Amino acid sequence: NQGLGSWPARRARMTPGRVALTCRGHDFTYGDLRERTYRLASALGVGRGDRVAYLGPNHPALVETFFAAGLLGAVFVPLNTRLATPELRFILEDADASVLLLGEGLDGQGLPGRHILAAEYEDLLASGAPEPIDEPVAQDDVCLIMYTSGTTGRPKGAMLTHANLIWNTVNLLVDVPLAHDEVMLISAPMFHIAALAQTLIPAVLKGGRAILEPSFDVERTFDLIEAERVTVMFGVPSMFNVLAQSPRWAKADLSSLRHLLCGGAPVPLPLISTYQERGLTFLQGYGMTETAPGALFLGAEHSVDKAGTAGVPCFFSDVRLVTAGGVDAAPGEPGEVHVQGPNVMSGYWRRPEESAKVLSPDGWFRSGDVGVADEDGYVRITDRLNDVIISGGENIYPAEVESVLYSHPAVAECAVIGVSDDQWGEVGKALVVLRPGATAEAEELLKHLDGRLARFKIPKHLEFVPELPKNAAGKLLKAPLRKLYGS
Ligand code: AMP
Ligand code: MG
Repeated sequence: NQGLGSWPARRARMTPGRVALTCRGHDFTYGDLRERTYRLASALGVGRGDRVAYLGPNHPALVETFFAAGLLGAVFVPLNTRLATPELRFILEDADASVLLLGEGLDGQGLPGRHILAAEYEDLLASGAPEPIDEPVAQDDVCLIMYTSGTTGRPKGAMLTHANLIWNTVNLLVDVPLAHDEVMLISAPMFHIAALAQTLIPAVLKGGRAILEPSFDVERTFDLIEAERVTVMFGVPSMFNVLAQSPRWAKADLSSLRHLLCGGAPVPLPLISTYQERGLTFLQGYGMTETAPGALFLGAEHSVDKAGTAGVPCFFSDVRLVTAGGVDAAPGEPGEVHVQGPNVMSGYWRRPEESAKVLSPDGWFRSGDVGVADEDGYVRITDRLNDVIISGGENIYPAEVESVLYSHPAVAECAVIGVSDDQWGEVGKALVVLRPGATAEAEELLKHLDGRLARFKIPKHLEFVPELPKNAAGKLLKAPLRKLYGS
């Protein structure tokens, strides 16, 4: 087994007694992790290529399911706990998952397929065999399908191979000198690529300890940093922002921190300075689910003089900025960010047409983001070609929100745009044209979205407008909308 499923065993061969995972006061050594993934893999009842879904917050079971699936040559499909039931149902059906493991407190009601509840999990492990599993798995086999929404509204599953994740880890280690004794705080959800690929996987490779937190909490974060002497933390900018705004910020003991990884959304300059004043430097990354995720990286050395950029391409990856005319952009000129390298996904699950739209035959992935490089090649991400709104690290696709708004009988037309927000970076704002004669309160329309969409996708603002600007072809024009209503 050349895949990631073999990593707990490879690690346990070297350091069986070292703690791999800590969760709510319980420690699991690498020896434990090896045994538990063998047991789970033997008891799971799935085979090569099957999709194994997991719905739950960060927990050792999520990690064990990921590695157990990898041992079997099966595919791990983590689900976002913030999604509403209809959204989860869509993904589970699309992935055609053989089994769904559920985290604590989740009953899986309304979700298809065979379920394994958290309460059944330890019994399942006990019923499995602790012996090695020897399934031939190649590094080019798919090991993870991670869903990410698209401009069309429906989420698509990005297929990542073992090799994609291994090369991402190598890219990361080139820039971040992780030691054997890192204590990594993982409070960003591992159903997103960054926490899984930028912290958990490298931690296991090096034999460090990962502290798994079910959610991000400011007080807990300070407590853990101080008590556990945390050395590495990943966060999206909004997480680092609320930490800096906490009353504890000034007196917290942050002396154990070695590397702060920040990315997933643009990192505001004032945030960089606030941390710099405490002697803390962000290692900034730009990437996306489809590139597993690292594409650009700004290391510590240039974090100040190149602040505001996302750095240069990761060592084994290449980035081009391509103009609307299809040629390479000159320094200072904007272009769409294209990424090539061993970390780029093989395509979207069962979506050959959508895959062909973003992946060229020679492996260049079109990100939909716009960047500008300076004379030294440092890329600043300046814009997005699609309308995605990034709110606290979660993506909101306006089309998805609009289609649910349209299903309300009083709505004649609507558009959702992003407006800037101090806490979340951006939040959604809905602009609604009511049907002639119809009346509806903003509150009623927002309530209509509740339960049909994840909470974070529900617009924070809603405004009734007389009409929406369109071009000659009747296509909605978002740019003038942002100008008119974007503040
Ligand atoms: P996702 O599709 O959820 O994987 O999120 C990837 C998207 O997040 C990218 O396409 C960018 O739009 C955005 N993003 C990630 N990192 C950065 C960054 N450092 N600066 C600006 N935008 C970013
Ligand atoms: Mg994306």
